[in-house]
Amino acid sequence: MEYFIDVIIPVPLQKLFTYSITASEYDFLKVGMRVSVPFGKSKIYTGIVYNIHTEAPIVYEAKEIHQILDETPLVTQNQLNLWQWISSYYMCTLGDVMRAALPNAFVLESETIVTKNAKKVIDEALLKDEEFLIYDALQFQSSLKIQDIVNILGKNNVLPIINRLLEKEAIHVDEEVFEKYKPKLVRYVKLHAQYTSEQALQQLLDDLNRAPKQHKVILTLFSLSATTKKPVKVSDLTTASEATSAVIKALIDKNILEEYYIQTDRIEYSGEENEASKKLNTYQETALNDIQTGFKQHDVVLLHGVTSSGKTEVYVKLIEDALQKKEQVLYLLPEIALTTQLITRLQNYFGEQVAVFHSKYSSQERVEVWNHVLQNSAKAQIILGARSSIFLPFHNLGLIIVDEEHEQSFKQFDPAPRYHARDTAIVLAHIFKAKVLLGSATPSLESYFNAQQNKYGLVEITKRFNDVLMPDMELVDIKEKFKKKCMKGHFSDRLISEMTDTLKEGYQVILFQNRRGFSPIVECNTCGHSPQCPNCDVSLTYHKYQNQLRCHYCGYTMAKLIKCLACGSPDLDNKGFGTEQIETEVKALFPDYKVARMDLDTTRGKYGYEKIITALEQQEIDILVGTQMLTKGLDFRNVKLVGIMNADTMLNFPDFRAHERSFQLMLQVSGRAGRTNVRGKVLIQTYNPHHNILQQVTTNNYIDMYKEQMNDRYNYKYPPVFKQIKITLKHKDYVVVDKASLWFATSLRQVFGDFILGPESPPIARIRNQFHKNILVKIPKKQSLSKTKEAIIKINNSFLSVKDFRSVKVILNVDNF
Ligand code: ADP
Ligand code: ZN
Ligand code: ZN
Repeated sequence: MEYFIDVIIPVPLQKLFTYSITASEYDFLKVGMRVSVPFGKSKIYTGIVYNIHTEAPIVYEAKEIHQILDETPLVTQNQLNLWQWISSYYMCTLGDVMRAALPNAFVLESETIVTKNAKKVIDEALLKDEEFLIYDALQFQSSLKIQDIVNILGKNNVLPIINRLLEKEAIHVDEEVFEKYKPKLVRYVKLHAQYTSEQALQQLLDDLNRAPKQHKVILTLFSLSATTKKPVKVSDLTTASEATSAVIKALIDKNILEEYYIQTDRIEYSGEENEASKKLNTYQETALNDIQTGFKQHDVVLLHGVTSSGKTEVYVKLIEDALQKKEQVLYLLPEIALTTQLITRLQNYFGEQVAVFHSKYSSQERVEVWNHVLQNSAKAQIILGARSSIFLPFHNLGLIIVDEEHEQSFKQFDPAPRYHARDTAIVLAHIFKAKVLLGSATPSLESYFNAQQNKYGLVEITKRFNDVLMPDMELVDIKEKFKKKCMKGHFSDRLISEMTDTLKEGYQVILFQNRRGFSPIVECNTCGHSPQCPNCDVSLTYHKYQNQLRCHYCGYTMAKLIKCLACGSPDLDNKGFGTEQIETEVKALFPDYKVARMDLDTTRGKYGYEKIITALEQQEIDILVGTQMLTKGLDFRNVKLVGIMNADTMLNFPDFRAHERSFQLMLQVSGRAGRTNVRGKVLIQTYNPHHNILQQVTTNNYIDMYKEQMNDRYNYKYPPVFKQIKITLKHKDYVVVDKASLWFATSLRQVFGDFILGPESPPIARIRNQFHKNILVKIPKKQSLSKTKEAIIKINNSFLSVKDFRSVKVILNVDNF
């Protein structure tokens, strides 16, 4: 008898790969274990066992596996079922899903790393175009992987270029094997065994009389172990005895102390379970009951509760219920909303049972959470996580909470799998027969529509906690203000006067500037030229802080110009305004107050975001200027005024969801104002105060917004009324991508007729040296989604077999956002 396994390998190829195994391996292996397998000419990959069987593959001879990497499965059958669903629903490979699902440290692989040769001065004029692109990229990134280079150059065969760069001694290459997971070890010390007797000890202390520092260390060690009755960490001993590490080392070298290591978890909690959950008010109590009743009929319930209505406290009660039933809970949040504020709040209620999982954590830390969840350990009963935590190896998941469910960042945009974490969470819950609660103050049209269709239950809280009033909203017509000369920079007299009052009363101010749209661009006053990204069809934006021009699409940077690149004139001007510009203006207008800025630039690093939030909480900041990041569920006590600098850039954004999103954004930022006793105030500056969305925002009228937007979605056949799949084609040659996309769209039209839109060039037609074309497939609800996908895959396969189109990249995005 011959034995085989089918293995998922993290490569974007559609099928599984079959390998042969021995009889004893057949007995040992289980589905979900890792194996390392040879692939291609010389590669070794880590794969996951998907299937164990005795049928030899027909078209090729199965190779033998290289090694078995686990003693027990790392991935559960439930996870594999979810992976399968994601792969078929989002039209990607199981390998794509595997890559997204497993922390890097689980996937051992060899990768070539290219770095710049710092010792050699290279004359850039001698480099060919493609060589220069790579060399140039290395000015800004310390290293590149082969795949990065493939992406930059837009072709697969990059080795000749790397070889030429090597010959010119411009770069180095290293084969780096990913370090596997290493548990963190903590260093401890104890007294050497020879001093256990009273006598020996006394002798030692006498001897050490001449070395008072060492003497003190030994006495401290005694008192520490006597009080804690636990092993003594070197770090604690050094602190308590005020000794240097040299003193400790001397004692170890003399064999008086003995050092040893104990494995600990990297993720340590300081918080203890020290608070009982809050008593709900009647609105919350009713909502909780309605949710529980809702769960009897529906697997999914939508909680629509205005900002600061106390949704989190309702979640807490549901979590308590689930824990009582010994069920695991997944609490999903958008990445950026995962703040220490919330983590602390939950840890106060649930102590060590809360584990946190998100992308700013190292791979090692994620491995630890993975293992805790897999073992259903007491430390991972509640997972508080971002998008990718739906991939954890749950055991007995009972409840999933998706907070801020309207957030678009739940959808992964790039690379595949292009999954929506909210929608995938619902499938995950289904696998476990668990319940899902979606929560938001501004639900997505998708979820509200599902609730209207009675697919989901619907529960509402319309009052803020403590009966705090919703903030008072005011629209400021800045066209008028400009005419009447009542503007100072980007600030209307109304905004300045409200800010002045608020600050005088000792309250704080938040100013919101949309990230999209008004980016600061440098323009020549003589010829009108503004510097463009060499790789993308966009102007570079000016970052004052680093004094750089930067491309937001590919990361290209250059130093700020002194002269115009086109005409040489030194007369350059900053156009548009970003958060930096506002920060500068605010500082000039309010020199006596402390101003800070929160955007992508100021929040890099693991705790970057936290530092600003803490400073605001501690009232070290009076005025905070920020982007979208400000909107995410933060709870500040002392903010009374929110200013929205310009509503129009959001409203005019070319996207069918722009109006829905503007409504959500503005209400969410407004929700940061006046959350405790005093009523908050919101000022919205706009050129178009009569815009329906602005009227709906100021009256907090979700239903009107919903009805009006749904009307448009019906008329123009957009989600949630129609489903849609976006097909993007990319190529470095415009003519090729133009021809290819026409071919693709024509073939689609033969099957789907009018439901095909495009091909169209997106607003930014070239990104990273690749020209883009989009085709949209609109799918009526009654048309079978799986048949539609089958047809698209068939067309895609014939497309790939056309010789001229082989180098065109095709991206399928189901339910695109
Ligand atoms: P939401 O998530 O709906 O925006 P939160 O759950 O953050 O609202 O609640 C807003 C504020 O009200 C928080 O500071 C919270 O601690 C407080 N709060 C909510 N419910 C209660 C309650 N039942 N008892 C005491 N304080 C509460
Ligand atoms: Zn010029
Ligand atoms: Zn660019």
